[in-house]
Amino acid sequence: MRALVSSYKLISPATLDEALQILTRERDVWKPFAGGTDLMVLLEAGKLPHRNYVNIWNLKELRGMEVTDQHVTIGALTTYTEVQQEKVLQQEFPMLCQAASETGGLAIQNRGTLGGNIVNASPAADSPPALLAYDAELELVSLNGARWVPYYGFHTGYKQMIIRPDELLTRIRLPRVSESVQHYYRKVGTRKAQAISKVCFAGTARLRDEKIEDLRLALGSIAPVPLRCVKTEDSLRGNQLNQTTIARARAVLADEIVPIDDIRSTSNYRHQVSLNLLQDFLHSLGLKFGVN
Ligand SMILES: Cc1cc2nc3c(=O)[nH]c(=O)nc-3n(C[C@H](O)[C@H](O)[C@H](O)COP(=O)(O)OP(=O)(O)OC[C@H]3O[C@@H](n4cnc5c(N)ncnc54)[C@H](O)[C@@H]3O)c2cc1C
Repeated sequence: MRALVSSYKLISPATLDEALQILTRERDVWKPFAGGTDLMVLLEAGKLPHRNYVNIWNLKELRGMEVTDQHVTIGALTTYTEVQQEKVLQQEFPMLCQAASETGGLAIQNRGTLGGNIVNASPAADSPPALLAYDAELELVSLNGARWVPYYGFHTGYKQMIIRPDELLTRIRLPRVSESVQHYYRKVGTRKAQAISKVCFAGTARLRDEKIEDLRLALGSIAPVPLRCVKTEDSLRGNQLNQTTIARARAVLADEIVPIDDIRSTSNYRHQVSLNLLQDFLHSLGLKFGVN
């Protein structure tokens, strides 16, 4: 049933400080409203749990991008359209740009934000696997100050996070990526566009002397949270890339993921596709060494 819009409140503070004061004064009463692309779906369905929203769309502190020698730092209100337009993101973080280009349609890409995707905390969201594979960090700001936390560990359970009700996610920081790193991102859905992921896979790796020197793997839609697959990473790191290593990594990943049956797919399908994507990723790395 549709909600009665007049029973909701939305206020638009002019500054970050003002927004934080509202979130602190009546803790848990007011919730951030960014692009609204997740929240409006709930409103339409009559399932929006809170009545009071703080419109953060106009807060300039949550916008823009900063590039230093070590990091690229992106405002939490950066939209998917903006992600795709940034040269440095295209060059060093292609998986994030691909995730952005495969998220919803143009209207959603113009309005949906990276910060909203993270805090909405859907295990099926498309940018979290890329952000995990790029080892992102998040800046959480309250009236007490700012704290940087690793994105890995931010989600503690289904829709559970370490962000407090008096905090806003303000920025996302990515360590810069060298040219020697290879990237692999695949979203598997029912259609090529406008589909929620059945499985989403993001991997980065650096090889040296035919060995996997370092790698990071993350998957979406296969656990209650976007999952960094550290056990599978450990089984591969430092090893020669060959059929034995690949078979072992497949077995480790099979134990590490916990997909469910739901309206979009079955546990069995998600399991099989995840293992196939891992294999495809590793084969893509090994092509130049004749591993196939
Ligand atoms: C038709 C359609 C298609 C979609 N397709 C996809 C898809 O393919 N892939 C995908 O991953 N998602 C998809 N989505 C979901 C949605 O667009 C994204 O999750 C989007 O990134 C949410 O961002 P937003 O700014 O609109 O968040 P909002 O709806 O404004 O907020 C979402 C949640 O995050 C909180 N929040 C937002 N910003 C902050 C912040 N800075 N600090 C603290 N809390 C915050 C809000 O309180 C709320 O709980 C789709 C949605 C629709 C309607």
